[in-house]
Amino acid sequence: MNDDVPFHAGAFESMPDGPVLLGSRCRACAQVYHPRTSTCLNCGGADLEDIHLSRRGRLECCTTVYMPTATMEAPYTVGYVQLPEGLRVFAPIQGATAALKVGASVTLARCTVGRGEKRLAAYCFVPA
Ligand SMILES: [Zn+2]
Repeated sequence: MNDDVPFHAGAFESMPDGPVLLGSRCRACAQVYHPRTSTCLNCGGADLEDIHLSRRGRLECCTTVYMPTATMEAPYTVGYVQLPEGLRVFAPIQGATAALKVGASVTLARCTVGRGEKRLAAYCFVPA
């Protein structure tokens, strides 16, 4: 099991108080990106600073998938979360997902993705 190995290098950091998403903010136009990038697609600038994104957001939509894939056991729920920085993050949604409604407050948490022994460290959102 490789649940300390991130599913996507540079997407997040594991901190003592939980995971944090890594992003970039353009110093010229303030556009925010996740994952990090070196060029702003909004203004073409290359002066971006590394930032940690908010751990709390609002659920924009989600769906539960009942068909397993080569890398995911079913059922699992995924969705889009709107962060205060103005960007939308796609992520697994875990916890009491049946009670979740659009606009619900969610918070970032650590999880794993994969099947069986082939699991990698990841992040998800859970009801706040
Ligand atoms: Zn920019």
